[in-house]
Amino acid sequence: MSERSFTIHEIEGYIESIFLVESEGRLLLLDGGCRGDAARIEAFITGTMGRPMADLKLMAVSHMHPDHAGGAPILRQKFGIPIAAHHRVDDWYRGWRGWLQNQVDRRLARFSARRNGKKRERVAYPRKLTPDYPLRDGDQLPGFPEWVTMTFPGHTSFDIGLFNKTRSVFYAADLILCINGKFMLPFPIPFPEEMKGSLTRFAKLNAETLLLAHGGKLKNMDFARLAGPLIERVGEVSNPMFRRILPFTTIGPEIKRKHRKKSR
Ligand SMILES: [Zn+2]
Repeated sequence: MSERSFTIHEIEGYIESIFLVESEGRLLLLDGGCRGDAARIEAFITGTMGRPMADLKLMAVSHMHPDHAGGAPILRQKFGIPIAAHHRVDDWYRGWRGWLQNQVDRRLARFSARRNGKKRERVAYPRKLTPDYPLRDGDQLPGFPEWVTMTFPGHTSFDIGLFNKTRSVFYAADLILCINGKFMLPFPIPFPEEMKGSLTRFAKLNAETLLLAHGGKLKNMDFARLAGPLIERVGEVSNPMFRRILPFTTIGPEIKRKHRKKSR
């Protein structure tokens, strides 16, 4: 293996894409997928790649939703692989409101699986991630200093993206989705103003490779042109099913706290 080797593998998860970065022989996982994806990731590393799990040095989790934070705790427990995530990530589902919000979000994940014609799988996972490496804006990933943390609130309060300037790669997680060739916003967006700020921040970035958890690996995208029309649409919910469940997406403790503060 060459000293400067760098490859991004895409693993098809239950309802999302998972990216496994191979950098000079060491592996970095960008999100751990759903609970059931832990086995898929393991099979990819040990089977497809023929590598030991010990080569996976770090898992970065972008936010607490079931299709991002479900698999990592299983792999940590089984193989001792550390997790890096937003330093306040565990506040997202805290308390009884957090429990309820998590139930709703799991239901949304199952809905998405059904819509994609996937077989039913369990999506339950711990509501607390307890990151081994709590991240703040501007932090480098431990052991992978080329990857820099950027916070992108809006979809949750504690979403992060990861930017590798050296290799010109940006992992956007759920900041933007691309479904059937159409760019769209994630659902839900409990903090529209923060989301607009996050998209504006994204618009100023530039990278050859854009990685989307729902949309895959995209090349040579113009971030500003991509974000512009989406910023205009923050606040719109056109999907009737999403509109119906909208009230149930604002139960979480952080959402209540911020909305309370605003109405004061
Ligand atoms: Zn999400």
